[in-house]
Amino acid sequence: MHSDLWVEEKFEDFLGLRLKVEKVLFSGKSEFQTVDVVETKGHGKMLLNDGLIMVTERDEFAYHDMISHVPLFIHPSPKKVLVIGGGDGGSAREVIRHKGVEKCTMVEIDAMVVDACKEFIPLTASALDDDRIELIIGDGVQFVKDTTEKFDVIIIDSTDPIGPATPLFGEEFYQDVNKCLSDDGIVVSQGETPWYGKEIQHSLLSVLNNVFDNTYMYSFSNLTYPGGLWCFTLASKKYHPISDFNADAVDASGLSFKYYNKGVHTAAFALPNFIRDGLQHL
Ligand code: SAM
Repeated sequence: MHSDLWVEEKFEDFLGLRLKVEKVLFSGKSEFQTVDVVETKGHGKMLLNDGLIMVTERDEFAYHDMISHVPLFIHPSPKKVLVIGGGDGGSAREVIRHKGVEKCTMVEIDAMVVDACKEFIPLTASALDDDRIELIIGDGVQFVKDTTEKFDVIIIDSTDPIGPATPLFGEEFYQDVNKCLSDDGIVVSQGETPWYGKEIQHSLLSVLNNVFDNTYMYSFSNLTYPGGLWCFTLASKKYHPISDFNADAVDASGLSFKYYNKGVHTAAFALPNFIRDGLQHL
């Protein structure tokens, strides 16, 4: 009998998300993680790190629109942007659609992720060849410690807090992020799901609250991450994400988006009560 190939992302010992696979395109093991790219049935090409779904072609736009355009339309004139992680290239791709951005520095620890995505998922990775993107293969934790550059927007496009991504959820890292943010800078981070990752969310927000005066969280819908409803955290030195958001700039940009729009921008900060529960400042 014909045996079907499926990939399953397991969450702890009680949840599995199964996607049908047509073909394995790449399988490797770097010094940091396993890296797989598969052709799925129904979700396009998919990247997995350590067996966890990072990106599928079908829904990557939701994550990448919301991690990049929300801060880039709050800041009135972002010129220098830093992406930590994001090796699939999707966040940097969206960043450089903003014509005012002069340079996007991307620091990804794992060259294997970048190389595999460049070869097999050009939808997200092809923008990495753009002149305005400086790709650095290195540890984002070390980069923010050492750099003397200042950035208007910093995007932490990280995996869950395991392996090399663990310090990306810690206070020392955010002290260094604070140091290299410009005086009116904004930092946005992958903020997990309130359904299964509430403890990580609360811990990340408490770290951010220790470092920044103004912290927020906003949500978005993701088809292929466990729980479906996911969040980004946002910390801002100057601008309020709604009252300082210039909705007209979205129209004036001439950009079109599959997920983001000015209504979604504002609505995303209106969090359901079960997410706000225990987070009184939000
Ligand atoms: N959208 C994704 C998600 O949340 O599932 C994140 C995608 S992106 C592929 C995450 C990247 O962060 C990985 O490629 C991983 O190698 C990178 N990463 C993890 N720790 C890092 C660190 N300390 N410095 C730089 N990049 C790191």
